[in-house]
Amino acid sequence: MAESWEWLIPRPRSKFVQVVCNECGNRQVVFEHAKTVVKCMVCGAVLARPAGGKAVIMAKKERTLE
Ligand SMILES: [Zn+2]
Repeated sequence: MAESWEWLIPRPRSKFVQVVCNECGNRQVVFEHAKTVVKCMVCGAVLARPAGGKAVIMAKKERTLE
């Protein structure tokens, strides 16, 4: 019983992307579906901003983390 309903729960595949700040070169991990503006922890430049679902990554994408 318990195992049969588990797959019915929707599991959105969320990813994290590692980006490089355009301003200072700081590497930071950003949630791909960020609901708030993500700023660089070093210089405060905007790295990603929410856009109804997937965030718009403003910085340079380096790699995607699963
Ligand atoms: Zn920066």
